[in-house]
Amino acid sequence: MAENNEKQIKGPPASFHFKVWRHFGFYETVDGKALDKDYAICKNCFAKIKYNSNTTNLQMHLVRYHGELLSAQLTQLRCDNVAGPDHIRRSDVPNNVPAT
Ligand SMILES: [Zn+2]
Repeated sequence: MAENNEKQIKGPPASFHFKVWRHFGFYETVDGKALDKDYAICKNCFAKIKYNSNTTNLQMHLVRYHGELLSAQLTQLRCDNVAGPDHIRRSDVPNNVPAT
């Protein structure tokens, strides 16, 4: 009864430090015991990209189809470096309530 047709994209192993892995994962193999590392799955468009131990194909995919994501990410990183939310302070509210 509990048929699971929707495959879940699993995150890559922790040893995968490349930035592109923020956008890709792997499906589990049919038996669910391992990850199918023949193909990386794009988290943005669910495309299957042939993966052969290097991220060139994945980077090409990101650049070609999701260039705007990459540039947005870069902008975000720059903003984080300049000023995070911690730097934003509420200005002090004037506390001089007139006495009655
Ligand atoms: Zn994609």
